[in-house]
Amino acid sequence: MSRTVSSAPVDLFVIGGGLNGCGIARDAGGRGLTVRLAEQGDLAQGTSSASTKLFHGGLRYLEYFEFRLVREALEERETLLTAMPHISWPMRFVLPYSPDMRFENDTPTSRLLGFVMPWMKGRRPAWLIRLGLFLYDNLGGRKILPGTAKLDLKTDPTGKPLKPGFGLAYEYSDCWVQDSRLVVLNARDAEARGATIMTRTRVTAAHREGDLWRIETEGETGPATYYARALVNAGGPWVEDVIRNVAHIPSTEGVRLVRGSHIVVPKLYDHDRCYFFQGTDGRIIFAIPYEQDFTLIGTTDMDHKGLPGEARCTDEERDYLCAFASQYFARPVTPDQVVWTYSGVRPLYNDGAKSATAATRDYVLSLNDQGAPLLNVFGGKITTYRRLAESALAKLAPFFPKASGKWTARVALPGGDFPVDGVEALIAQLSATYPFLSPRLARRLVRTYGTEAFRLLGDAKSLSDLGRDFGAGLTEAEVNWLVRNEYALSAQDILWRRTKLGLHMNDEQVRALDDFIAAMPAAVAAAE
Ligand SMILES: Cc1cc2nc3c(=O)[nH]c(=O)nc-3n(C[C@H](O)[C@H](O)[C@H](O)COP(=O)(O)OP(=O)(O)OC[C@H]3O[C@@H](n4cnc5c(N)ncnc54)[C@H](O)[C@@H]3O)c2cc1C
Repeated sequence: MSRTVSSAPVDLFVIGGGLNGCGIARDAGGRGLTVRLAEQGDLAQGTSSASTKLFHGGLRYLEYFEFRLVREALEERETLLTAMPHISWPMRFVLPYSPDMRFENDTPTSRLLGFVMPWMKGRRPAWLIRLGLFLYDNLGGRKILPGTAKLDLKTDPTGKPLKPGFGLAYEYSDCWVQDSRLVVLNARDAEARGATIMTRTRVTAAHREGDLWRIETEGETGPATYYARALVNAGGPWVEDVIRNVAHIPSTEGVRLVRGSHIVVPKLYDHDRCYFFQGTDGRIIFAIPYEQDFTLIGTTDMDHKGLPGEARCTDEERDYLCAFASQYFARPVTPDQVVWTYSGVRPLYNDGAKSATAATRDYVLSLNDQGAPLLNVFGGKITTYRRLAESALAKLAPFFPKASGKWTARVALPGGDFPVDGVEALIAQLSATYPFLSPRLARRLVRTYGTEAFRLLGDAKSLSDLGRDFGAGLTEAEVNWLVRNEYALSAQDILWRRTKLGLHMNDEQVRALDDFIAAMPAAVAAAE
């Protein structure tokens, strides 16, 4: 195929369609900059679909004295919740207290406590957990989320699925978010503000040419060349690869790849709260109600040696998570219960920290301005992506004096234009307009598409108006929507990143969906 050359330069070319790349593209588009983004695979196919899916301050980062990061993340929770009340919601976390639970032994807090209270031998005292939760409640200016409460697990329903013997627990707030949907909604909003989003397009080379970047890509439509005034490297775990092998820039900055795996098992309990379990090894894991019928358990924290795209949950990690959860649940969690696992790689800025758990979770933005600017993005959290995008644009501001100021706080993402406490009312409204929807389907559609569920369903008067049912309530109308509006090009995109319906479908249904998409004119058009 011959190379296409797009000679008119854009202001910003973004490498990477994870949350940070799409967040930056959206922010820049809204400031009036021209933007093009290239993602080598599907949107969110890297780390941004493999997180624990929490908007959280990171309670345990307090032990590393990461106060700036924790405060920023705590503040963001409510800002983000307001902008996307469909795909995110508040959650309560129950932290059972047990005097045997220990610190990781090299956190600043554990070292300090080891010095002043050596008799604790690495154990976390209850007053320290209370202090941490007090800070957690008060650092980030909470208005929507309720504060910490004390529970007696002998009487509270959350004690029921746990082993007898747990008495005291603390319950605090954080939020859930559908991570990969957050990415696609940012990409769509970026596009609505003028950005061009290219998926299945790998950036193979980038060179400075005069005042511009010349960027070469390989995609399903063949090789292409683009020009840009500035380049953003939001390659996540590939950030170092892009610096060295795409831009060919010698750099001392590195990325530390830390793998985190999760397991999914059939629902372990009936209430809607999550658990925060502390281990005897100083680590913590969460158990979270997941996709109505399941419980999500994770995460591990291991240095990752292979390529970022090859992260898989090992048998050892699976067994570790089962054993960890079984220290708490009355009925043991066993490997044969595991229905799905996923694994992602944290792209942490290499700050020389010793253990995987101890490496900084904060993000680092490094600007190379030896010619046309290159901004490299290291690290970050789902929770701080919007602030990261603002900081990225602040770093690039001197090169774009005409760009307007920050604007994204509390601005709704597509489908999120309804009140933060309005989800039940929206489900009721959708069910009244489309009375043929089952309560489960109406809820899922609102939780996935928010107010856009009405556009998706259009003037359908019955289930059969929504076309073929591929299984698990996925209809032709929804598939059409995802292919036409959300860059989906395969069953995998739809079943694991736009939705999590893959958990409910068998191989034959997946094949039928793939065949259907391959035959769709819109998919063909999008892929061309
Ligand atoms: C196990 C785990 C749990 C986590 N849990 C949480 C949590 O609960 N809450 C929270 O706030 N944060 C959490 N995080 C952190 C969060 O997931 C990440 O910080 C975030 O997703 C990083 O996004 P990103 O855009 O930088 O990277 P990615 O999502 O990996 O995106 C980078 C993209 O760049 C693309 N790319 C790379 N090279 C090229 C190229 N040459 N051309 C084109 N495209 C390219 C890749 O394909 C990839 O899609 C967790 C992380 C992990 C691993």
